[in-house]
Order: sequence, then C-alpha cells, then structure tokens
Amino acid sequence: MSCLKTENTAPDAKGPADRDFNPYAAMQPRAPGAIPEGYRNGGRVKENGAAPDGVYLPNNNIQTPAMRSPDYVQLSTAAAITLGIMPGKMYRCSCTRCLNLLLTYPEGCRANCAYCGLARHREADRNYADRNFIRVDWPAVPMAQVVDIVARDGENTPFHRMCISMITHPNSDADTVSVLKAWTARIAPETVPVSILSNPTTMTRADVANLRDLGADIFTVALDAATPDLFDRTRGKGVQSPHSWAKYWEILEAARDIFGPEKFGAHLIVGMGETEHEVLSVVQRLSDMGGHSHMFCFFPERGSLMDHLPATPRDQWRRVQLARYLIDYWGVRIDRMAFDAEGRVTDFGLPQGELDAIVNAGIAFRTSGCPGKFQEDISACDRPYGDSPPSNIASYPFQPNRIDLRKIRGQLGLPRRPS
Ligand code: SF4
Repeated sequence: MSCLKTENTAPDAKGPADRDFNPYAAMQPRAPGAIPEGYRNGGRVKENGAAPDGVYLPNNNIQTPAMRSPDYVQLSTAAAITLGIMPGKMYRCSCTRCLNLLLTYPEGCRANCAYCGLARHREADRNYADRNFIRVDWPAVPMAQVVDIVARDGENTPFHRMCISMITHPNSDADTVSVLKAWTARIAPETVPVSILSNPTTMTRADVANLRDLGADIFTVALDAATPDLFDRTRGKGVQSPHSWAKYWEILEAARDIFGPEKFGAHLIVGMGETEHEVLSVVQRLSDMGGHSHMFCFFPERGSLMDHLPATPRDQWRRVQLARYLIDYWGVRIDRMAFDAEGRVTDFGLPQGELDAIVNAGIAFRTSGCPGKFQEDISACDRPYGDSPPSNIASYPFQPNRIDLRKIRGQLGLPRRPS
C-alpha cells in the first residue's frame, strides 16, 4: 500500500478564467441527492451486522463490519503505516508525527459538508468506514490495540502528538471522553500530548472544560470556511447540513477562555471562494485572540459535493500560506500588508531582505497544525498529501529542499534564485 494514488485531477497553475485564484462565483457546490431509505443511517452495515475482527482496511468490495467508537477508531493511512499496522511507504517522508484518530460509527457523520469525503450524502455510495477523507483511506483499528502499541514504544514512539477528531454524531461527545481516558490511562501527556479536533455543533462550554480537565492539551475547531456566507453555503443550510458560523465561534471563544493562549486554534480551507483578505482577516482575528490558524489548501475530494471544482491555484495558496505564517509567528499584522481590488496580497509588509530570509527558511510552506517536539512553528500534524498530490505539493509534510524552494519562489512571483 502506498499513499501515492492514481490522480483523476491535479491542480492547475491558473484558476477559473485564467485567474490565479478561485473566485466565489466559480466555487458553487452541487446539491446533495436523495438517499434511498435502506441506505440511510448506516442501514446496510447494520442490517448485515458483520462482526469486526481486528484491523479493517477500507475495501468497497467486501462487507464493512459494524464498528463503533469508543472500541474502534479510524486512523489516517500515514498513521497506520507509522504505527506498523499496515505496510506501505510515503513519498519523501518516513513517518507522520501525528496520530490522527477519527471516531467511527456505522451511521457515520451526520453532517453534509460540501468539500468532505465523510459527508452524509455519500450513504448510498459508500459505507462510512470505506470513505476517503483528505485524499486517503482511513483503516479502522481497535482502540485498545492503538494504545498498546504506543504505550509499548514509550519514549521511543515516533508520534509527537495524538489528535481525536470528533464527527457530527449523537455519541461523539461521550466517546471522545472515553477515547481520551483510555489514552491518558496508559500514556503520559508529556510523552504524547493530545489535541481535540472538536465538533462544536453538539458541544457546550462544559464539554470543552471537561476535555481540558481530563488532560487534553490543545483544542481546535474546524471552521474551514472563512466567511459566514461561505460557511452556510458549504456546511450549513446550503447543503442540508446542521452547522452554524455562530455556534462554531461560540465554542472557539470557550476554548480561548478555557485552554488559554497558544492552546487553541482553528482550521481554515483556502480557495473555496473567499478572498485572500477575507481568510487572512480570520487568521488575524484568531491571532489577536491568542490562538493559531491551521491551513488547508482546497482539493476536490473524490465523491464530495465539490469534486467537480478546481483545486486552489498554487499562487493563491502560497501567498496565503506565507502571510498566515508572518501573522502567526512574526507578528506582522494584516494592516501592514497590501491587497489589490480582488483581495490578493500584493505586499507582505516586510522589507524584501527579511521576507527572502523567511521564504528561504521554508517553514512557512510546511503543513500547519498543532506543534510537535521540534519547534513551535513546526507542526506535528504533517498530514502527508492530505491537500495535494505529491506531484504538486501544497502543504510540505517535510522540510522543502533547494529545488522545492525554487518552485515555491516561482509560485510567489519571486526570482527563482534568492538574490
Ligand atoms: S462535520 Fe467534519 S467529518 Fe462531518 S461532514 Fe463536516 S467536515 Fe466532514
């Protein structure tokens, strides 16, 4: 098994109408179709009732077992390879530093986010545990087996962080607590700290406080869309999905109060129709609150309601990636930057020499997320090829080399060789 997949789509150098960004008008998701009665709520899996037997590798040609958190969790392909429960190699990286655990149920996620491979509208197409998510398969594994392996490895574990990804399901609040308790009972928080990727729709402020009290280190909210309108179009009423912008910010603000500075953050997807100024305004707002933003480059996930739309042009992505890094780690404020009439960054607010040095250090272009053990601005969560194919990398899951940096400089409109 490999994380290299046959690609049916690849990012173009330019976006719609030959522009170097994805405009709002061009990024309309498809409407979700009706689901036949017997397929709803994991109907096929529950009717067959196949008992799980250890690790399940997603396979659309065999009966999916009825697996349920907290006994079972799903892992990213990269985490499963690193954990040693699945053979395989990753292009230019030997392992991932973040053990991403995804709650799992036959009913799956009850939300319908337009860009997401796990969304409810796929019920007739694929059973939940067989769905692709951020471009890869997610094997299902007994939670006890995951804990046994990491506890056995102790200080030698390759993982710098574990993350519990909640989904929208009536049991996910309680099961997140169970998974967290199972982890902290055997693994010291100093050895592998835990992040929570929350589901605000089902949560209260008391739930946030409970997770902190039980030992979670960082709390994040997948805001994903950068404006209220785009949020509603891709995650709310626009696609028959239950999420609301106001509820997501309510839980983010609770996380700020409860987890404190540097211990909360939000995910944002770049290129779904927002302007660069709009997404960077959210980055600045999060930074002013004391938190961080974790960026994803939009990629048309196979089977999602946006799989017919263009991936984010690399020029747009690199500008936002660099500007976000400057705001989060170099104290450059958005009001020091300049933007054109279409909201594109035209000046990053630093003298060229300083900007060159930051670009050439390459860290700005690595995957962003919760920190690991190397340094604060290097994410443990490297998500290899979660937002691009290896042939045209958006978020680098490793330190970009000299050749990568020449390509990045070209995408930023800088001379390919630094002066
Ligand atoms: S809530 Fe999360 S997992 Fe569920 S459809 Fe939306 S993005 Fe996907």
